[in-house]
Amino acid sequence: MKALLVQAPNQLEIVERPIPTIASTTDVLVKVKAGGICGSDVHIYHGTSSVATYPRVIGHEIAGIVESIGTDVSSLELGDHVVLDPVMNCGQCYQCKIGRGNVCSKLQVRSVHIDGGYQEWIVVPAISLYKIPKHFSWEEAVMIEPFTVAKQVCSRAEITKEDRVFIMGAGPLGLSVLKMAKFYGATCYVSDIMDNKLEFAKLYGADALINATNTNVKETILELTQGDGATVVIDAACTNKSLEQALECVCAAGRVIALGFGNQPTGISQLSITAREIDIRGSRLHNNKFPEVIADFIAGNLEVKDMITHRFNFMDIHQALALIEDPKKEKGKVVLLF
Ligand SMILES: [Zn+2]
Ligand SMILES: [Zn+2]
Repeated sequence: MKALLVQAPNQLEIVERPIPTIASTTDVLVKVKAGGICGSDVHIYHGTSSVATYPRVIGHEIAGIVESIGTDVSSLELGDHVVLDPVMNCGQCYQCKIGRGNVCSKLQVRSVHIDGGYQEWIVVPAISLYKIPKHFSWEEAVMIEPFTVAKQVCSRAEITKEDRVFIMGAGPLGLSVLKMAKFYGATCYVSDIMDNKLEFAKLYGADALINATNTNVKETILELTQGDGATVVIDAACTNKSLEQALECVCAAGRVIALGFGNQPTGISQLSITAREIDIRGSRLHNNKFPEVIADFIAGNLEVKDMITHRFNFMDIHQALALIEDPKKEKGKVVLLF
């Protein structure tokens, strides 16, 4: 079978590997059918991920069909359509015991620390797979994983319909959070430096759009919120200055969600947090959100088909990456078909 392997930064090869076989009685063999391309896959490809190790098969937004199951697997049957959970945790550490397994002390993420799903077949434990209805298209199914991340953000931010949410950055994560927050009934303001990205935000129901290159962002947010500031600020811009700006835009007793992986310090004062009791919370991956997101998809709570703009055969990975990296090309989610 073929697998898409990043041998080392900037060296992505299509390699031949034997089809994996079931090694444990709780394993499942899945024929991969589709994989979404995530910004983090692109970072791992270029060596700009601070956490990835090499060589690595990338891809963590994966859907496929169950082809073989171990003797102790009761949750799945042959022919089931499934999506893959990239998060693996130990179940034993403090974080796992308090129900925060997505920040397990022995956390392993498929496509980052261990091989991901851009391969024609993959063997994983049954607990890493979630069954989906067969009427979901494969490309729709790959959107489930990114929405687990968006749901985690909304859950960390405790978003309700009362909230006035400022989403900084209209990239894929910012836009998924927007869709989820709109489903919860929140008022959402979205900023970006690119008008074409803001157009997507408008399409997905943003209540106000802010182009940060030609607008005073803080003043605009204060105007929109009658001088209070947003109750929640999501920093999906993840630049060196964006967390500082998030604190300027949040109201007293509000929540700021940090999503960046930059390791440079930012100039945030103690006063800006303490005086107004701001909660700054990180949000990473997702914490057991697959069942909730699959339920959202089944209920039709989230329209995702309009987010998918390009499809490639997985063998054309280099063309797909070239499209993603061309700033002149408009695109939403790019999906690889296997
Ligand atoms: Zn991702
Ligand atoms: Zn753990």
